[in-house]
Amino acid sequence: MQKTGKTKRAELYKDRNTQAFLSKFLSGEIGELKPVYDPKLGYRYPVIEAIVGDAANVEDFLNRLCEAGVLERRLYDKIIYCPKCGSANISVHYCCPYCKSFSIQKSSLIEHVKCGYMDIEENFLKGNKLICPKCHEELKKLDVDYRRAGTWCVCKDCSKSFDIPVTAHFCRECHANSAFEDAVIKDVYDYSLKEEIREEAAVGWVIIEPIGEFLRENGLEVESPAFLKGKSGANHMFDMAAYKGDVKRKVMVIDLAISTEDAVPEQPVIALFAKIFDVSPDSAYLIAIPKMSENGKKMAELYNIKVVEGKNQKEAVKALKDELFKKE
Ligand SMILES: [Zn+2]
Ligand SMILES: [Zn+2]
Ligand SMILES: [Zn+2]
Repeated sequence: MQKTGKTKRAELYKDRNTQAFLSKFLSGEIGELKPVYDPKLGYRYPVIEAIVGDAANVEDFLNRLCEAGVLERRLYDKIIYCPKCGSANISVHYCCPYCKSFSIQKSSLIEHVKCGYMDIEENFLKGNKLICPKCHEELKKLDVDYRRAGTWCVCKDCSKSFDIPVTAHFCRECHANSAFEDAVIKDVYDYSLKEEIREEAAVGWVIIEPIGEFLRENGLEVESPAFLKGKSGANHMFDMAAYKGDVKRKVMVIDLAISTEDAVPEQPVIALFAKIFDVSPDSAYLIAIPKMSENGKKMAELYNIKVVEGKNQKEAVKALKDELFKKE
């Protein structure tokens, strides 16, 4: 089944790293995620590195959030890497198109309007004044006496003149010169949280914590996310597991399903059933936000999964309380 953006997001909200990252946006700690320039490594996102632990996983982490429609990105810069050693410590050289030397002098061209003489600015300069080398008149007002007619370069090595230089790259690490054609160029983005995601994300990740708190207050031991081993030997992840009693421990598992449409479909019920079939907990709860579809409810009853519905975090916690106290 092709995962929709909404399903992808619901899964992402359960991820601890995503939660940590989103909390920074939702609390206002980050307004926009901008890359930080490092002369050797290129651009980095230290905030994300701190969350995901390994700088190598940063790009993947951000890409997933973009694909799921949580973040939007904007082109911020382009970074050039040395094709030989991979360093981002690159300088751009403007070179002579004839001999490829980067020892070129860039000047601006000036035209004396009255006599039509055109030359580079340096040849007009006499002290602080601009004097026409041809008719020896002083040029006073730009766009009246004279105009700027573009750029002109002179190669200090081969003495040829040209208006557009060619670009080359010099690696400050390995000292290799490379042409534009060989350059490894990568897009660098800044990221922001999509406005329409703000509320959805807040419900998604804020919900798990208060439920855990409530269960702890009631003397249960809580793990979130929890990995439980099944009869098959496989490990299954639940959004939360709670344990009660010391001698014979009772195990309760909880999954959270969020729908941004009207109701949670039956898929999360099936997924939870597959896990509890292997793990055999004492009880299984599925928290559905804002509510569970009719099909999902029927299926949950059949599978002995208790469905707890709530329009938001507060309602869901209250509904779970009611469900638990009803039982005891
Ligand atoms: Zn290099
Ligand atoms: Zn030259
Ligand atoms: Zn002149």
